[in-house]
Amino acid sequence: MSAFNSQANSQLILALSKGRIFEDTLPLLEAAGIIVTENPETSRKLILATNDPDVRVIIVRASDVPTYVQHGAADFGVAGKDVLLEHGGEGLYQPIDLNIAACRMSVAVKAGFDYETAVRQGARLRVATKFVNTAREHFAAKGVHVDLIKLYGSMELAPLVGLSDAIVDVVSTGNTLRANHLVEVEEIMDISSRLIVNQAALKLKRERLQPIIEAFERASRKTQ
Ligand code: AMP
Repeated sequence: MSAFNSQANSQLILALSKGRIFEDTLPLLEAAGIIVTENPETSRKLILATNDPDVRVIIVRASDVPTYVQHGAADFGVAGKDVLLEHGGEGLYQPIDLNIAACRMSVAVKAGFDYETAVRQGARLRVATKFVNTAREHFAAKGVHVDLIKLYGSMELAPLVGLSDAIVDVVSTGNTLRANHLVEVEEIMDISSRLIVNQAALKLKRERLQPIIEAFERASRKTQ
């Protein structure tokens, strides 16, 4: 078996995405005695070393983190609730909400678009989003008919160029919406990132994983 097959030995592989999740996970790793010794923002490496020769971090797209963990290519990972809801959570154990990378999932429209009236009148809304499952469930629960348009990024552009009436996206400060003359009209849910663990790894590598999970849990409780 390859040295990178994390099921093969006592080595642990943690899947993270660059940016806020990576930055917010570093203090939790430190609480578990793990220091990442390379910086993904300056290194082009996708496999990062830590001070523990048995622990490595892989850098993947946020939406790919659950896939790597589900298939055991990573033993554990950190993923946003937004991403986990789209993935479905199959094959994943989700022991803790880390309360990091907090934001909210919202509906936004172009300034001046009368969302309330459109919804009340039963108009069929065109909604562009990366989060099609979450959007479908949200509008179905409200009894609003929607045509969902799947996008992979820059959702804010869709209403501006007439691709959609609304978007469903994650919002943090609201600066991106404001800069693009969009208005948040409905909050769907609060989002935070969760620790996810491969179910087989949890059984086979419990001795190594359990102390890290517990350290993450203690450290994330402190930051609340
Ligand atoms: P903001 O301008 O602070 O509201 O940030 C919004 C932009 O950042 C949007 O394009 C989002 O896709 C992205 N974003 C903000 N917070 C998060 C998060 N916690 N997870 C993923 N994407 C985020």
